[in-house]
Amino acid sequence: MLICGPCSAESEEQVYTTARQLKELVAPDYFRAGIWKPRTHPDSFEGLGEKALAWMQRIQNELNIHVITEVANANHIEKIAKYGFKAFWIGARTVANPFSVQEVANAAKGGDFKVFIKNPTNPDIDLWCGAIERFRKIGLGDIIAVSRGFYPFSETKLRNLPCWEIPIELARRMPDIKIICDPSHIAGDTRYIAEISQQAINLNMAGLMIESHCCPQQALSDSNQQLTPLEIKNLIDSLKIKSPASDDHNYEMELETLRNKIDFLDYQLIDILKQRFAITNEIGELKKSRNVAILQIDRWKKVLESRSEYAEKIGLSKEMIATLFSEIHKESIREQE
Ligand code: PEP
Ligand code: MN
Repeated sequence: MLICGPCSAESEEQVYTTARQLKELVAPDYFRAGIWKPRTHPDSFEGLGEKALAWMQRIQNELNIHVITEVANANHIEKIAKYGFKAFWIGARTVANPFSVQEVANAAKGGDFKVFIKNPTNPDIDLWCGAIERFRKIGLGDIIAVSRGFYPFSETKLRNLPCWEIPIELARRMPDIKIICDPSHIAGDTRYIAEISQQAINLNMAGLMIESHCCPQQALSDSNQQLTPLEIKNLIDSLKIKSPASDDHNYEMELETLRNKIDFLDYQLIDILKQRFAITNEIGELKKSRNVAILQIDRWKKVLESRSEYAEKIGLSKEMIATLFSEIHKESIREQE
């Protein structure tokens, strides 16, 4: 599934030109544009409201592309229904507020809408699932989750962290919900959109929502991350599309063999951890008997350094081993306590 279009609808010409070029070059499943924009600062461009809905309706009718926009309250639902929209998305800020999500769900009840639900900006999977459940409960079953990254709390290369483990966990919890990726809001910069898109495809995501503007430099919102329709075409052409599975018999056999090896090693890992915790518990008893503090920071520093160094020497990621040992150490302390 491909959803493309500008961050915001800015003029009839801008949306129409962008939509026409996109239709010609990549024929997206949906043309997107923000009509009501939830902006961080009150003086930023907040969208044009109802008059832009009429432009979107014209695009839907004349170019024969479904249109989609962001909604945040009951009034928005009423308006998009009036202009013939059959799909909407709930934005990352709105999804974090269950009152708003419920209001939108109640207003959309009984309507013929496809609902796209972005993740909240904070990495709270329950909140994301909760929003999906609210729509399911009122009987709107055609729901797609949109992974758009999580607020990083610090300066990072990407505007938002993909935290792929969160959409993966969503797929585990709700296997019937399709997940697509919004690489534009993860990247925040056109330079990184292709790599994020490919990563999403490698994770078997069902599609992409990418921002596209006929003149990105002139965009009134998110100008750094919008691609021209031609750049969208080049991006799509460059992606290596992966299938969810293969029916090649040899592939299945090889995969099965390798997975058996993994299973065997995983149980060994768990058994070794069990032995390790038995020893740290003994150490706990020893410390207790001599009234010695549990945390021995010098020992912990040495463990962390030596294990990370060794990992690096044998070609494993130092950071990954450090993270793993931090978890193990946390658990040892908890048990010793
Ligand atoms: C958008 O899609 O333009 C948008 C505002 O997205 P998000 O809610 O993910 O920030
Ligand atoms: Mn945007």
